[in-house]
Order: sequence, then structure tokens, then C-alpha cells
Amino acid sequence: MAGTGAGRFAPSPSGQLHIGNLRTAVVAWLFARSTGRSFLLRVEDLDRVRAGTEEEQLAELAALGILSDGPVVRQSEQTGRYEQALGLLQSRGLVYECFCTRRDVAEAASAPHGRPGFYPGTCRGLGADERDRRRAERPPSLRLAAGVGTWHIEDLLAGHVTAPVDDFVLRRNDGVIAYNLAVVVDDAAQGIDQVVRGDDLLESAPRQAYLASLLGLPVPTYAHVPLAISPGGRRLAKRDGAVTLEDLARLGWSAHAVLALILASLGLPAGSLGAALASFDPARLPRYPWVVDPAALSSTPLSVPAGPACKPSAPTDKVLP
Ligand code: GLU
Repeated sequence: MAGTGAGRFAPSPSGQLHIGNLRTAVVAWLFARSTGRSFLLRVEDLDRVRAGTEEEQLAELAALGILSDGPVVRQSEQTGRYEQALGLLQSRGLVYECFCTRRDVAEAASAPHGRPGFYPGTCRGLGADERDRRRAERPPSLRLAAGVGTWHIEDLLAGHVTAPVDDFVLRRNDGVIAYNLAVVVDDAAQGIDQVVRGDDLLESAPRQAYLASLLGLPVPTYAHVPLAISPGGRRLAKRDGAVTLEDLARLGWSAHAVLALILASLGLPAGSLGAALASFDPARLPRYPWVVDPAALSSTPLSVPAGPACKPSAPTDKVLP
């Protein structure tokens, strides 16, 4: 593999990819290739696994020409690395046991001084006796004793982003390693220094960058891509209609035609990935969601609908709630 870093696409094998997910993968591939990086695929199978989906997703990506330059890594096979990172944080006193239920956390967040989605550190100060007593009632999750309230990243599309960092979960109380820890450990272990993914994860990025810095790992470059949405403004989902390669194939769309649709939506030449790469310019990527109307897709793939006009726009500073 080239020694120039790597980009990646890391789907969770919970169902078929839809054209919004595939579009994000295409953008990640273009970012990696246009900056001389390798491109890797990772299967995020710590949670929400549906049998057969991994193979299905890799085949969907391959049909668009998106392949991994190295072995496809499965998170379920990396648990030793995660435990090692957890041990490092533990040895520095940065991990504590939390006995709160989901309901406790939700109630704390909706209390007068609570903040939605922000864990206020309820269990941080529990004494050893109290912890022993509570452990007999319920297995604990493990949380990071965060030393900051916010952290920031520079995002190639969203600009300067500041978001809250709370004492987030590192290992769930069912023993499963939490996404935020896994993703940071994996990206570093795979030499991934460019993270391009959907902007639903923008708010998690400062947490992950903070965790990487605590672990002494390099913080990757980030680019969070606006999602595909339905005409009603909701995040695109399979229930919205024919939005997977399989559904679209039934309506007469070849994988090539779907790729052309995706490239057009990005304001890029629709002929091939290679042609798109030659004119890829991150500064010209749309900075707003891609509105997908499955009803329009069901008519005919003969002419590829034009993408939205792409206005270059300067990154804006963002402070997330
Ligand atoms: N596995 C996550 C998802 O499918 C993506 C995580 C990431 O790209 O960091 O939403």
C-alpha cells in the first residue's frame, strides 16, 4: 500500500446500502484518490448485524467500481486493540463505571440544567462501596472521564466545528465496545488519515478527535458530506421507495446509470469514476443535502436527471448544540 495515508468507507452491515450511502462512498473514494491516498473498506459489525449484508454491501460498492486497496477489516475481529486502548485510558484514571439506565440518562438530560444528549457525569464520583453494591444489580458501562466540555475540528466541508464532549460511553454494559472508541482505534491502526462520511456524524467528530488526542493517535482530516434526503426533508430510507441498487435494477437502472446519477448530483461528469476524478474539486461539492425523489427514479433511467446547481461556497463556522 502507498505510504501516503488512506481514506475509507465504513458501512454498518445492517441492511442494503441506498443511493445516499453509495453517494457518500463515491465522495470518500474521490477524496482519497484525488489526494493520492489508498482507499479502504471497513465493516463496522460490532452491532446491528444482518446475516449476508456484508457480502451484499461489498458487492454493491464493487458494482460502482469501489474496491478496497487492502484487506477488508471487520471490527468484530479487532477487539484486542479496543481493550488495549481502554486499558491505556484506565491506567491513566480516565475511565469510570456507569450504572445509569437509558432512562436515567434521558431524565438527567431533560432536568432543568440538563442538555439533550449530554451525560452530566452522574456516576463519576461514586465511591468503591457504592460501585460494589450497584455492580451486583447491573453490569456497568464504562465511560470516559472527559477533561473538556467541548472540542473542535477543522472539516473540509463544514469548516471549523465545535461540539460538546461529555463523558461518553467507551464500552456498553453488554460488553460491546462503543462506536466512538472503535472508530478512533481502527482509523489509526489502518493508517487512515482522511475520514469522509455522512454529516449525521459531524457532531461525533470532535469527541473522536479528542479521544484520539488522549490516546496519542493522529487526528485525521475530516470531510462530512451532506446526506441524501426525501422530498419531505427526512433522511433518505429504504421505506421511501426504490433507492437500493437491487430495487433500481428491477426498474431498469444499470449500476452504471446509478453511478451517473450520483456523479451528476455532485456536479461531476457522469461518464465514469475516472472522469469524475479528473474534475473533482472539493470546493465545488454541494454543501446542502441531496433531495432524492424515488417517484422520479421509478420512471426511467434513460436520461440522468441533472444534479442541483453546484455553487462553490466558503466553509462556514459551526457550533453544534
Ligand atoms: N458505520 C457508520 C455508519 O454506517 C459509519 C462510521 C464512520 O464512518 O465513522 O453509519
